[in-house]
Amino acid sequence: MEDIISLDKHYIAGTYGRFPVELVSGKGSLLQGADGKQYIDMGSGIAVSSFGTADDVWVEAVTKQLGCLQHTSNLYYTSPCALLAKALCEKTGMKKVFFSNSGAEANECAIKVARKYSAQKKGSDCYTIVTLQNSFHGRTLTTLAATGQEHYHELFQPLTPGFIHIEANDIAGLKKVVSEKKVAGILMECVQGEGGVLPVSKEFMNAAADLCKAQDIPLMIDEVQTGNGRCGALYAYMNYGIQPDIVSTAKGLGGGLPIGATLLGEKVQDVLKPGDHGSTFGGNPVCCAGALSVIERLDDAFLLDVQKKSEYIFAQLQNAPGVLEVTGMGLMIGIKTRRDVKEVLTQCRANGVLCLTAKDKLRLLPPLNIPMELLQKAVAIIKRSLI
Ligand SMILES: *Cc1c(COP(=O)(O)O)cnc(C)c1O
Repeated sequence: MEDIISLDKHYIAGTYGRFPVELVSGKGSLLQGADGKQYIDMGSGIAVSSFGTADDVWVEAVTKQLGCLQHTSNLYYTSPCALLAKALCEKTGMKKVFFSNSGAEANECAIKVARKYSAQKKGSDCYTIVTLQNSFHGRTLTTLAATGQEHYHELFQPLTPGFIHIEANDIAGLKKVVSEKKVAGILMECVQGEGGVLPVSKEFMNAAADLCKAQDIPLMIDEVQTGNGRCGALYAYMNYGIQPDIVSTAKGLGGGLPIGATLLGEKVQDVLKPGDHGSTFGGNPVCCAGALSVIERLDDAFLLDVQKKSEYIFAQLQNAPGVLEVTGMGLMIGIKTRRDVKEVLTQCRANGVLCLTAKDKLRLLPPLNIPMELLQKAVAIIKRSLI
C-alpha cells in the first residue's frame, strides 16, 4: 500500500496544515482512521456533514438521484433544484435562490446583487460594501477583500476595491460609515466562525437591520457556517428576529456535497437578469437532492434537540477546569482554553475525539444528530484534555 500521507505531501499544493490522520470511512458521528483507530467526529468536516458520515437517509437521496441524472447544465430544468429552492424560500420567506458550489461563491453572488441593486437605485458610485473586522467570507479575491482579517490579504494585492471593515458591535461606527460613504450593502456573519466563534450582539444586529431598512441598503447575512440548523435555528439570523435582504449559505446545506446558495429577499429578488451571473455546476441535481433531504429534516423538533445538545455542552464546559470562556450558538461552540489549544487538540485526537480550532480557541461543530451517548463521551474526553 502506498503511503498516502507522503504522496499527499508530495503532490498536493501546500495550502493545508493537515492532521496526521488518514480517514477511510465512517458512520454517523464515528470516523475510521486508516490505522484502525476510531474517532468521535466533533468537526463534521467543518460544519459540512450535518448528519454525520454516510447517513442512511442522505445516502439514499443522493444515490437515487446519482443513478438517474447526475448533471444537465443550467440550460434545462430539473426537479431537485426547483424543489430545493421552493423549500428554502418557504422556510425563510425569501423569494428567489441562486445556486453555486461553495460559500465564497454564495458570497460573490450576494455582493454582485447588492452592488447592482444599489448602482441602479443610487448611481454607479454607490458601491462600498461594509463588513466586520475579524470576519471571514471566503478565499476568492473579492471575498478576501470582504474578509476583515489583514493576514489573509498579504501578498495578494490588489484585492477587489470598495470594502470597509468596521468593528463588530460598534453601532456608532456603523452609523458613521453609512453617513459618510455611499454604502451598497452590509455583509456579516451572526457568529464569526473562523474569527473565534464570536456571536454578534442583538443590539448591533437590530441596529444594522433598522439602518438598512431606513436607508434602502441590502442587508446580507453570511450563513455559510451558521446556517442549516447549526445554530439551533434553521438560519442563525432567525435567533435575532431580523429579516435580511440576502442570505448566503453553503457548508452544511449539502450534507457533504458541494453546494452554495444565495437567497434573495423581496427587495432584490429581480435584480439578476439573464447573463448577469451563472455557474456550470450550480444547482447540480445530485447536490440539490442531498441538500433537499437535509433541509426537510431540519424541523422544529430536530432544532430543539440541537438546542438541548448545545445547552449540555455549555453546562459541561463553562466553569470546567482549564476553560477560560465558552462562546457560540447551537452546535457551533468555541472554547478558550488555559492550555495551548494545539496541545488540547492533539490530546483529544490521541484519545479518539476529532475537534477543530478557530484562532486560539477549541472549536466544536459536531454532526447535528450526534447521539447523546457519543456527545457525552466526547465531552468527557475533551474535559480531560483541557487540564
Ligand atoms: C467557510 C466559510 C466561507 C467560505 O466557504 P467556502 O465553501 O470555503 O468557499 C465563507 N463564509 C463563512 C462564514 C465561512 O465559514
